[in-house]
Amino acid sequence: MRDDSALVLFSGGQDSATCLAWALDRFGHVETLGFDYGQRHVIELQTRQAMRDALCRDAGWAAKLGEDHVLDLRALGGISDTSLTRDVAIEMETGGLPNTFVPGRNLIFLTFAAALSYRRGIKNIVTGVCETDYSGYPDCRDDTIKALQVAINLGMERRFVLHTPLMWRDKAATWELAEQLGGPTLVEAIRTVTHSCYLGDRTPHEWGAGCGTCPACELRAAGWRKYRCN
Ligand code: ZN
Repeated sequence: MRDDSALVLFSGGQDSATCLAWALDRFGHVETLGFDYGQRHVIELQTRQAMRDALCRDAGWAAKLGEDHVLDLRALGGISDTSLTRDVAIEMETGGLPNTFVPGRNLIFLTFAAALSYRRGIKNIVTGVCETDYSGYPDCRDDTIKALQVAINLGMERRFVLHTPLMWRDKAATWELAEQLGGPTLVEAIRTVTHSCYLGDRTPHEWGAGCGTCPACELRAAGWRKYRCN
């Protein structure tokens, strides 16, 4: 395994794009991984290549950025009755989680990422999960990721390191990290290229593209305003 290699779970959103920049700044060789799990809107997957191009062109990381992988996990959509994979409205469920929650998604993503890293000889796995924002998804918790690192390393007889650079950052602090990593050029690339909107809307706003009213857009808009005021 190469100690200076990393695989970034890269969806094409603000968080994973910032994680990709973080990995390119820190490691010598970085590959990306996306999942097709039957998302209602394929726009996220389409923005991935545009963001990879921007990181090479604008930030000068072309020499470090390696292969892109996309794995077909549509079986996950088949067993998940959520607003991300079915055409139903976003709402809170009785258990306190929004119906955007896909049960076990990050557990499955990280296990597949580790299997791919095993084959690619990659030591570091980077994911943009975060405890501070979003809706209390239990598979984004720091304890969940730490426990999963132990389970994966036991189960695969490896010493993978799972990195969560955004775990304790809110959305404003994530913009600040992007600014530290790549200055205003990187912030502008992430603002204009990445996609967060649950509804697949690309209407332009000062904080990026989206419908402006879904939970992901509200979170992104609030984070941008807080970042601009700091
Ligand atoms: Zn939206």
